[in-house]
Amino acid sequence: LDIPIHEAVLGGAAAFGDTVALVDGTNGLSVTYAQLDTFHRRIAAHLAGAGLRKGDVLALHSPNTIAYPAVFYGATRAGASVTTVHPLATAEEFAKQLKDCAARWIVTVSLFLDVARRAAELAGGIQEIFVCDQADGHTSVLDMLGSTAPEPEIVFDPAEDIAALPYSSGTTGTPKGVMLTHRSIGTNLEQLRPFIPMEPGHSILAVLPFFHIYGLTALMNVPLRCGATVVVLPRFDLDQFLGAIQEHRITGLYVAPPIVLALAKHPAVGTYDLSSLQYIVSAAAPLDAELAEACSTRLGVPPVRQAYGMTELSPGTHVVPLDAENPPPGAVGKLLPGTEMRIASIEDPGTDLGIDTDGEILIRGPQVMKGYLGRPDATAGMIDSDGWVHTGDVGRVDADGWLFVVDRVKELIKYKGYQVAPAELEALLLTHESVADAAVIGVLDADGNEIPKAYLVRGPAAQDLTAEDVMAYVAERVAPYKKVRRAEFIEAVPRAASGKILRRELRDREKKQ
Ligand code: ATP
Ligand code: MG
Repeated sequence: LDIPIHEAVLGGAAAFGDTVALVDGTNGLSVTYAQLDTFHRRIAAHLAGAGLRKGDVLALHSPNTIAYPAVFYGATRAGASVTTVHPLATAEEFAKQLKDCAARWIVTVSLFLDVARRAAELAGGIQEIFVCDQADGHTSVLDMLGSTAPEPEIVFDPAEDIAALPYSSGTTGTPKGVMLTHRSIGTNLEQLRPFIPMEPGHSILAVLPFFHIYGLTALMNVPLRCGATVVVLPRFDLDQFLGAIQEHRITGLYVAPPIVLALAKHPAVGTYDLSSLQYIVSAAAPLDAELAEACSTRLGVPPVRQAYGMTELSPGTHVVPLDAENPPPGAVGKLLPGTEMRIASIEDPGTDLGIDTDGEILIRGPQVMKGYLGRPDATAGMIDSDGWVHTGDVGRVDADGWLFVVDRVKELIKYKGYQVAPAELEALLLTHESVADAAVIGVLDADGNEIPKAYLVRGPAAQDLTAEDVMAYVAERVAPYKKVRRAEFIEAVPRAASGKILRRELRDREKKQ
């Protein structure tokens, strides 16, 4: 799609007029499409007037609010590349990102202004800090709406200009700046459109963060392009989340596996009227088929649909179409049009594998990133000379073209020559009625062999549960080489904002012990 992202998403906004675009789920304040159209243009005008030039990097440091999209598209309209920042980043983490991408502008919220100021000081090079709400000494986005500055006339090259510069989650290493062009994001929206249809009257609940590519796409770009209503929550609180579904008659949920888990298991779920829900989509991390089924049965919605992608792929490559008749349990989807996939041998990447065989997922298509910012070596390690992205994920395809994701190549546990996928064990552990949450990593036993170790969170009425009980439960259900051979109880499983288990943190914890 060869138009800038703000055109691709908000091109129809004026025509949607008084349809509500965004609702603040905490206080009911709302923004119509006509307002969103005007607001983002006013913000663009103000930013240009303040000196923002095409190609400048603007850091958007905010939890989900109804102002977020107007700031995002206003900034791109002014020619900025928007780098989205975790609202809970420390000043040091934030400064690192600012420095890495040579950001010149920050938009934050008063709640996190101190962190933003400190980060700006540490990083240097910041021209101005704006706030979405209000704070002394800083221009507010609200002030910008009254701007009389002329709208900037920027000429875009959608294939080359960077619209968004999200940082990868850092699940496996240092987060890297991912250069996504107007074209790569816009093209992916076109590829997704037939499979996740939305229209005015649909209501989407936005609780996953906009700053992550999944939220940015599923909760902002896709619905706002179609005239749907987005109900915004700043963080996940189960009661608030369920209350918002009931109050705003939410029709579609885009969530990650931990929320599916909560919907499947938590007692509070039964006390709300969730009858407006038509579908649930899960992405960003492995979802167990049984858990997905428990969730959809309990809520009386069709099977939870999955999607698969990564920041580097703008982000989608596979979705289970919302109207698919009987998608096989566990499938993450079918390949989007215009995208190619290979399943390559992990030992010998030059060899392609047939159906039903686990290998590394390789992707090629118009949604591939331009590269990692300032990291030519990392880019070359990810995208080979023929344009194939080596995802680092293990998967297999069945005869009908459904993709199943097993786990990340790097996180497979090698037990005596066998490969064990932690995600498979985590899924099984969650089927134990007294296990509230679980994570698995490979640890070394006394002989230096890698073995699976489980970290478990006890359910509410499970004080008597022992590690031995849980290990025996697994042993009865898996081939002997997959047994969990060590287990420890913890308070909570460490997770990224997008819901991914941070196995890296568990490995660090293991090293310290
Ligand atoms: P980093 O690359 O910085 O280590 P990350 O890979 O977690 O972090 P993202 O781009 O947010 O960063 O996540 C993409 C990854 O999420 C995929 O490579 C895959 O491992 C996982 N993923 C996404 N969707 C699914 C899904 N439906 N099932 C299983 N895994 C998924
Ligand atoms: Mg990654």
